Amino acid sequence: MIVTIDGPSGSGKGTIAKRLAKSLQFVFFDTGAMYRSFAYAILKKNISLNDEEALLSLLKNFPFRIERNGEFEQYYLNDEDVTDLIRSRDVTVHSSKVAVLPIVREALVHLQRKFAEGCDAVFEGRDMGTVVFPKADFKFFLTASSDVRAERRYKQILSKDPSFIDKVTVEEIKRDIEQRDTRDSSREHSPLRKASNAHEIDTSDLSPEEVEDLMLSIIKSSAR
Ligand code: C5P
Repeated sequence: MIVTIDGPSGSGKGTIAKRLAKSLQFVFFDTGAMYRSFAYAILKKNISLNDEEALLSLLKNFPFRIERNGEFEQYYLNDEDVTDLIRSRDVTVHSSKVAVLPIVREALVHLQRKFAEGCDAVFEGRDMGTVVFPKADFKFFLTASSDVRAERRYKQILSKDPSFIDKVTVEEIKRDIEQRDTRDSSREHSPLRKASNAHEIDTSDLSPEEVEDLMLSIIKSSAR
């Protein structure tokens, strides 16, 4: 069974997808981590977004790997642990630029579908319900106001590294989020949008527990 969760950054997708996967005893798959890892790889190798040949060559044997350690996923490119590196501001901004390129999307979508073969999984991203798994068993689309989303990201960043209190403001994060939203929603290929048969949930005033309960009740009521 495949469950898809799409939505803009900060809508709560990551937290909720992980919780839901745990409750259902499904595999959790964060497709944003793939786009981020690819962005990290090309920044490190200094590959330009216009260099199609170099991009294709990296995509051909993209050495992305996931290791699951209990509650946590760790992401690797070959043997390099990129789990934390892919969350930097540079990589975050670059990830939505690489995600515009059809050759990148095509290759990563292929890998995502391969990962899904033979397993029950919760996939989260931007185009899971529309493009990657149009026949998914359950589709959800999460939203929240940009103020709430920026506040969530801010708290998340500080919880990982309190020294960021002097380095970043909620306003800067909100600006980054809105720019990324615009790029993700206005791109020609696989833009961020709700699948017509997805359940839309505004998470602005809901706790993660409440969102998860709502999803579980939808899943359980149609399984009857
Ligand atoms: O979800 P996350 O914020 O980690 O994703 C990083 C970027 O990767 C997004 O801004 C988006 O541009 C891209 N992405 C995408 N399609 C997905 C997942 C992520 O285009 N399925």
